[in-house]
Amino acid sequence: MGDLARAVTACCGGGRVRVNVPLREYTSWRIGGPAQLMVEPASVEGLVKFLAWAGEVGVPVTVMGRGTNLLVADRGVSGLLIRLEKSMGQIGIQGRSILAGAGTPLSGLARTAAGRALTGLAFCAGIPGSVGGALVTNAGAHNHSLAELVREVTVVDRAGRLRVLRGPELKFGYRTSIFKEEFLVAAQVGFELEEGDPGRIRREMAEYTALRRQTQPLDYPSAGSVFKNPPGYYAGRLIEEAGAKGLSRGGARVSLRHANFIVNTGGATAADVWGLIQTVREMVWRRTGVELALEVQLAGDWGE
Ligand SMILES: Cc1cc2nc3c(=O)[nH]c(=O)nc-3n(C[C@H](O)[C@H](O)[C@H](O)COP(=O)(O)OP(=O)(O)OC[C@H]3O[C@@H](n4cnc5c(N)ncnc54)[C@H](O)[C@@H]3O)c2cc1C
Repeated sequence: MGDLARAVTACCGGGRVRVNVPLREYTSWRIGGPAQLMVEPASVEGLVKFLAWAGEVGVPVTVMGRGTNLLVADRGVSGLLIRLEKSMGQIGIQGRSILAGAGTPLSGLARTAAGRALTGLAFCAGIPGSVGGALVTNAGAHNHSLAELVREVTVVDRAGRLRVLRGPELKFGYRTSIFKEEFLVAAQVGFELEEGDPGRIRREMAEYTALRRQTQPLDYPSAGSVFKNPPGYYAGRLIEEAGAKGLSRGGARVSLRHANFIVNTGGATAADVWGLIQTVREMVWRRTGVELALEVQLAGDWGE
């Protein structure tokens, strides 16, 4: 174990600590170099300790959930990577209120809510991320987004201080939130749902899942939609009209099924995907004058 790993283990205890972890094993794109030091806190207290330690020592910190919206650089991530997964995924339910750990899988949360006859989260069926990651982008589908249901979020800042954010403090918008402006780690999310009919909620979830199977290239690794939909347009349609559908670079290809997905057809690197992103943007800009903004997020050491 490296010096940093020894230091973080000695200081923080609890949670899993590993060095040199290949991130392609932890991203839905199956792409990404190694994490120098990866920790998986087992509790909010553990998360606070890891952040406070990194703040004191001056180690750069990156956060990830289930890695389903991330393009991790081929060189990997230096410093401390905090991964929030099932060990931070407890769910508590009281009446119509749910408190979920940031590492809770979003689809699992939707299923649990349906089981308790609570409606509102059905649109999350088939979104493969964690509750924390979904919060950052205000994940959405089928004309709904997480912002509609979030009551409050417990966050930890760079110095390891806890605070609770509510309503406008969360700065939710289309695929955005305060987490894109400020370094904050979501630890727990409080949702307020409505009572509903479990059978109907389950049917709705099954319909959404079937629709995804029909329209998305789920047989290849991807990170979902690469670009945001510009106001008044669908990014996928613009990409198709620009003639970029099916374009490939190395192991990366603009999906033939859904042009806003870039799929890993085998052995794609982050550089392949990034190159393809630049080409697609350029083609769409030249054809339509519309500038596509990234929906996926970059992580790691990209150099210049
Ligand atoms: C097949 C497929 C379909 C998809 N469909 C949709 C869809 O319909 N709608 C949609 O919105 N998205 C969709 N996505 C994208 C993705 O699943 C969501 O954005 C998801 O919410 C990301 O969660 P994650 O845990 O994987 O986040 P990650 O990819 O791990 O991280 C994403 C970002 O969030 C940050 N982050 C993660 N956890 C935290 C935390 N606890 N605190 C602070 N920052 C954090 C990371 O630093 C990073 O910047 C799809 C992806 C795939 C692969």
